[in-house]
Amino acid sequence: MSGIDSLPPLRDVITTHGLSARKSLGQNFLLDLNLTAKIARMAGDIENADVLEIGPGPGGLTRGLLAEGARRVLAVEKDARCIPALEEIASAYPGRLEVINGDALELDPTERLTPPIKVAANLPYNVGTELLVRWLTPPSWPPFWQSLTLMFQREVAERIVATPGSKAYGRLAVLVQWRASAQIVLNLPPGAFTPPPKVSSAVVHLTALNAPRFPADPKALERVVARAFNQRRKMMRAALKGMAPDIEDRLIASGIEPTDRAETVGLEQFCALARNLG
Ligand code: SAM
Repeated sequence: MSGIDSLPPLRDVITTHGLSARKSLGQNFLLDLNLTAKIARMAGDIENADVLEIGPGPGGLTRGLLAEGARRVLAVEKDARCIPALEEIASAYPGRLEVINGDALELDPTERLTPPIKVAANLPYNVGTELLVRWLTPPSWPPFWQSLTLMFQREVAERIVATPGSKAYGRLAVLVQWRASAQIVLNLPPGAFTPPPKVSSAVVHLTALNAPRFPADPKALERVVARAFNQRRKMMRAALKGMAPDIEDRLIASGIEPTDRAETVGLEQFCALARNLG
């Protein structure tokens, strides 16, 4: 037997290595290997890519990625208790899995990977959102990653793909959709995880665009969008007051009515405004 067939079931791995789930590390494990293989397939063509996996835990998604043919996987896990279980997987797939015991927020793993690079992760939600924002705001574009396949709390996934006029539309949607395409590719109920979290989850697949959809300076865009959505119930002329003495004229020049609210302003208009205020 080789590969995945030589490895014990994940429930046994958890018992053998004493991997009782820790709330402080946001540990909700996926133990169904059919499901983790399905998520791995959602990452796209991994046979010709290196995959960065953040938070592999006992290795359910790691196994899925390797069984689906990932060229190489670099797995970064904060919990030292998981490392022996992950090393067992590495032995079953010689030369294809590298495991690092570390905090993904403090590590730059890119130098160990060869492009194209895909990221796949089932992470604690707070860490996932923080990393997503970092991955979307690199010093230069295109970023190191070609695609991101990430598990989020359903409500966060909806904010990522939201369109103008919807309640979920805000800063995150603009930040994501400016330079990436994003889709919810799978919805999962709490019962898909062990232990089950309180809320539903969703997998979001994001692909980096080669260039932004509309030109704008990233910092200027971020500033405008942060101000606009900080007071999302206010009209744009009030929310952005103080950003320029002639803010109303600049809004109009950007195709925005001064009485519009941020939640109805589209990406193209926000980019125009960032240019007009730049
Ligand atoms: N991927 C596994 C699965 O699907 O079963 C585990 C998912 S669990 C939701 C999140 C994992 O991320 C845990 O194993 C946890 O220890 C790890 N983790 C939490 N914070 C981390 C961080 N800052 N850096 C790396 N791993 C982290």
